[in-house]
Amino acid sequence: MIRLPGLIDPHVHLREPGATHKEDFDSGTCAALAGGFTLVLAMPNTRPPIFDAETLDLALNAAKQKARCDYAQYVGAGPDNADVVAALADKAAALKMYLDITFGQLRLDDMTLWMPHFEKYPKQYPIVAHSESRSMAAAILFAAIYDRPVHIAHISLKEEVLLIRAAKEKGITVTCEVCPHHLFLTADSPLPQGDRGASRSVAEGGSGVRVNGRKEVRPRLATRSDVDALWENLDVIDCFATDHAPHTLEEKDSENPPPGFPGLETALPLLLTAVAAGPFGAAQGRRLTLDDLIQKMYVNPRKIFHLPDQPETWIEVDENAEYQIKAFEQFTRCGWTPFEGWKVKGRVRKVVLRGKTAFEDGKILVEKGYGRNIRQQ
Ligand SMILES: [Zn+2]
Repeated sequence: MIRLPGLIDPHVHLREPGATHKEDFDSGTCAALAGGFTLVLAMPNTRPPIFDAETLDLALNAAKQKARCDYAQYVGAGPDNADVVAALADKAAALKMYLDITFGQLRLDDMTLWMPHFEKYPKQYPIVAHSESRSMAAAILFAAIYDRPVHIAHISLKEEVLLIRAAKEKGITVTCEVCPHHLFLTADSPLPQGDRGASRSVAEGGSGVRVNGRKEVRPRLATRSDVDALWENLDVIDCFATDHAPHTLEEKDSENPPPGFPGLETALPLLLTAVAAGPFGAAQGRRLTLDDLIQKMYVNPRKIFHLPDQPETWIEVDENAEYQIKAFEQFTRCGWTPFEGWKVKGRVRKVVLRGKTAFEDGKILVEKGYGRNIRQQ
């Protein structure tokens, strides 16, 4: 049995308010505890989005009643709320900006709309950017121009990790995270496909190509050479984040499958399995170590997001337990995982959160509302 600090996931979608049939603060924080996470940072692209005082209260009230692990809630950048979100910074996890995938009230059509956010959001908290490829380069340029920290969400490409390395070498305050699914899956990975997933014919306005909705995720699964580049540049990667983005199987197998994978309950077992596998890479000189996990799932997120200590908090992991990942054993409400049937080594046995056993041997032992908002000390 090994003992690790309570893990921190800086990127989860708990779907509350607005889509609680997929997940809510209760089921999502149960999944977190079962996965060894004692603190999660919840993304703001809910319905409604969390982007002013009123919507922040809405999310925080739900979290206060339901969360079983500790949490903080992001605010989202919109076209005209830079002053509003800056004033809420001490109550929020950080500011999330969607620089590529833009929709609804968090839509930022051009860079003039980024400027007031980079100018005004307090510099002790990062701006977290969903920014892929060239927009990631633009986000890093903004970090340099405005001399403030930017955290790049879920990098997935070789060009991204190489550019972040170069930016760090120049002293630009950029940090980044990578998701387990971008380390363990490529666009060619054989993922199970639902039998209900039907494509729209050309006559119906569709492509005629059958889409496997269970592969849909943003950023998309990348090539083998991208995945290899992430592993080869692990020293540049500050955090492992799940981007836990649950959708039901029915939705994933529908004609318009929403992008996103659940991840809270599979991240640690997958990464522990990589640790157990030992040295890898052409030169066999590199390996993922337990210390890397502690740095990227505890030490660095605490530092980057200025998160307080969780006293008397740790997790116990049976590093030798071998088993298969099974969606039906999970707490997430979405009912599936892209890693179904994968053989892994390393199981979370026990989670102690602020002196209380919150999870043990497959059971959640703390009630709804035990989780605390770490921004309200
Ligand atoms: Zn996300």
